Amino acid sequence: MIHGTVFNLQRYSLHDGPGIRTTVFLKGCPARCWWCHNPESQSPLPEIACSQNLCIACGACRSACPESLSRQSCRGCGACARACPTGAREVVGRVMTVDEVMESVLKDRFFYEDSGGGVTFSGGEPLCQPQFLKELLAACREHEIHTAVDTAGICAPDTLADIAPLADLFLFDLKCADPERHREGTGADHAAILKNLECLGREQRPIWLRIPVVPGFNDSVQEMEALAALASRLHGVRQVWLLPYHGSWGAKPQRFGKEAALQAAGAAAPSLETLEHYARLFRDRGLDTRIGGA
Ligand code: SF4
Ligand code: SF4
Repeated sequence: MIHGTVFNLQRYSLHDGPGIRTTVFLKGCPARCWWCHNPESQSPLPEIACSQNLCIACGACRSACPESLSRQSCRGCGACARACPTGAREVVGRVMTVDEVMESVLKDRFFYEDSGGGVTFSGGEPLCQPQFLKELLAACREHEIHTAVDTAGICAPDTLADIAPLADLFLFDLKCADPERHREGTGADHAAILKNLECLGREQRPIWLRIPVVPGFNDSVQEMEALAALASRLHGVRQVWLLPYHGSWGAKPQRFGKEAALQAAGAAAPSLETLEHYARLFRDRGLDTRIGGA
């Protein structure tokens, strides 16, 4: 039976596509965006999160761990979390079957029908688990549930071509227009992502472009103008969403021992006035552009 690793199932989601949705977060992402607000999504395996504010330094986790609490050697067994008396340690990521995910998804079927909602598969990069994703999309279609795939387009072209006909909407994260800056900020190849995005357009798949507005990365008129020009040349783009960075994005990485992302913690969020200005750059090119939460 096909199974995959899921790190969250979020019901009543309002920010991941139209209507009321369940967002299924699949684990694993090849990109390393320094501002990532879901650092638990990056590793494809279950991993341990630790909330220092709950820790009473009792040492029970160390006694239970066969690997002396080494992050590098962690095998995700969960012994430390089970031993922890305060809930400071928890295992993030669960191996689930398609049926298990669908059982949860189907609970809110009436909300989807009433609101024009459905299910969004996010991550991480959901295309990193292509077979699992494909089966989930097929199961949703069987139940006539609208589906969206929230992707950064980081996958082989064949993988995307295989998945594309099964999804009703793509929420495609586009982070910047400059290939060099893109590689520096995310570690991923801009040209390959763009090719996948263009391919979806050619296949006439509906796309909502989602652009995180991140201080110190793409928060400038020059960058937004370049993105607006790029977006206006693409086929299939129905909406553009500007997703303002907010300070809390920088807090979570500490729980996963990911210090690099902390540089985002002190950065100021772009003002509403700035975001409106950026949105006009897209609207001036005929793109239906919204400012949203993330
Ligand atoms: S999950 Fe297992 S190996 Fe990893 S830190 Fe906890 S006890 Fe150690
Ligand atoms: S078992 Fe929990 S409370 Fe005790 S030291 Fe480990 S993390 Fe802290």
